[in-house]
Amino acid sequence: MKAFLLLPQRTASSGIRRFSVSVQAYRDKNIAIVGGGAAGFYTAARLLAKTQDVNIDIFEQLPTPYGLVRFGVAPDHPEVKNCTTKFDQVSGSPRVRYFGNIQVGRQLALEKLRSAYDGVVLSYGASEDRKLGIPGEDGVDGKWGVVPARQFVAWYNGLPEAQGLDVDLKSFDRVVIVGHGNVALDCARILLTEPSELASTDITAHALETLRGSNVRHVEMVGRRGPLQVAFTTKELREMTKIPALDFICDRDLVASECAKWAEWLDASRSLKRMMDLLTKHAVSAGHSGRKSFTLSFLKSPVEVVPDQAAPQRIRFQINRLEGPVDAARAVGTGEFVDVPCGLILRSIGYASTPLDGAPFDGRRKIIPNIAGRATDNGELVPGLYAAGWVKRGPVGVIATTMQDAYRTADAVIMDLVHSQGQPREAIDQMLSESGVLSSCVTNAQWKRLEAFEAEAGQLTGKPREKVTNIEQMLNIVK
Ligand code: FAD
Repeated sequence: MKAFLLLPQRTASSGIRRFSVSVQAYRDKNIAIVGGGAAGFYTAARLLAKTQDVNIDIFEQLPTPYGLVRFGVAPDHPEVKNCTTKFDQVSGSPRVRYFGNIQVGRQLALEKLRSAYDGVVLSYGASEDRKLGIPGEDGVDGKWGVVPARQFVAWYNGLPEAQGLDVDLKSFDRVVIVGHGNVALDCARILLTEPSELASTDITAHALETLRGSNVRHVEMVGRRGPLQVAFTTKELREMTKIPALDFICDRDLVASECAKWAEWLDASRSLKRMMDLLTKHAVSAGHSGRKSFTLSFLKSPVEVVPDQAAPQRIRFQINRLEGPVDAARAVGTGEFVDVPCGLILRSIGYASTPLDGAPFDGRRKIIPNIAGRATDNGELVPGLYAAGWVKRGPVGVIATTMQDAYRTADAVIMDLVHSQGQPREAIDQMLSESGVLSSCVTNAQWKRLEAFEAEAGQLTGKPREKVTNIEQMLNIVK
């Protein structure tokens, strides 16, 4: 076995020192990855590229791989899903095994993985979301209330567990989305786009049918702070301006006054300046009657959801003002309130990871505590345990960020392999066999069968794929 080499490099542009791991030759080293999303696959890709013969087993709770790339990224953003070509190269490697339909913590204990493998990378993402914590959020008698945008996204993207969501888009014409991030914009765009435009995407047949029958005409997206504090990006906002026959409404006076107040600061932020220009150019202060509308509302915090006689419900907001510097502005309630009658209310204020039995967890930050990807427990390194992706750094960042972050974790794994003490491959396979993993998993070859089935079904209606949305059906197809 060669000793690892850590090469410091000075980048031409920044002059910052980075470290790169040269290709290593290890014998009989095995890494387990928990979660087959972007972080899991990019970690595996880096391990493949930077070692000669380390084996990688990916455990994914669903039969299907790719995580949020399949179940989060909007169906009308197909180019974003091109990263799956890279993931397929990874799972096609003879050094990689894909074990789909295996939930670590349920079918297979983390302890078993840790005692068998040289390293275990936790990349299991963020499967919960943050609540608003206001009265009425859970509805009355289980009806109405606030629906997590996470579930709505999962519903139109075909995540099996979200297919039971009762999405009523018929009995009202107004939707309120709480949150000013890209996920909120995805939801608004899907609700306001002509369904015929979505018909050639991989949105599920059921969601498309529901959207075809939708009476939703107005979507209001509400944030507690101002235009200079939004979390979405210009590209996604620009898409809203391109929806035909849609009034894009926002308080242009507020945008103008905030831009004037912080002009110097804004000059240094090109992307935010572009976004403010976009708002100024495309937004109107009030809608044309009869047209669909998208309203971007600022300076409002939700305080309560109450039933309503005419609309199904109303959401009450407190009006805020901003205090403090522009880049750390705080929303402070003014004591004035406004009610918005609506049907569906979506909350889109962030995803959250959950603890996994046997792994340390920071309950406040809702991540696996770690130092550059190495898991820690009460400040001490946990040997052989790593984190990557959203469970490592929190639910922020696009796929490119997740890739960079997964590469850093993989580099830490490679450095530590010198000292690792996993079991040989035969012992691992025996453990997997005894745990029932080998008999109940969906292999990569089986996933490819399911993928081909979905592609064939999609061809019939001019879609890239028609996703199978039921686990039992998936398992029958791959049998
Ligand atoms: P995930 O993709 O969530 O993967 C985690 C995987 O772990 C999942 O497959 C899950 O099933 C599995 N898992 C969970 N628990 C277990 C367990 N116990 N055992 C085994 N497996 C388990 N980025 C872009 O660049 N462009 C976009 O347009 C874009 N759109 C987005 C839209 C939405 C709605 C969301 C939420 C995110 C979007 N992102 C986008 C961000 C991107 O999806 C994330 O950066 C990335 O997916 C995070 O990867 P991850 O592997 O950490 O998590």
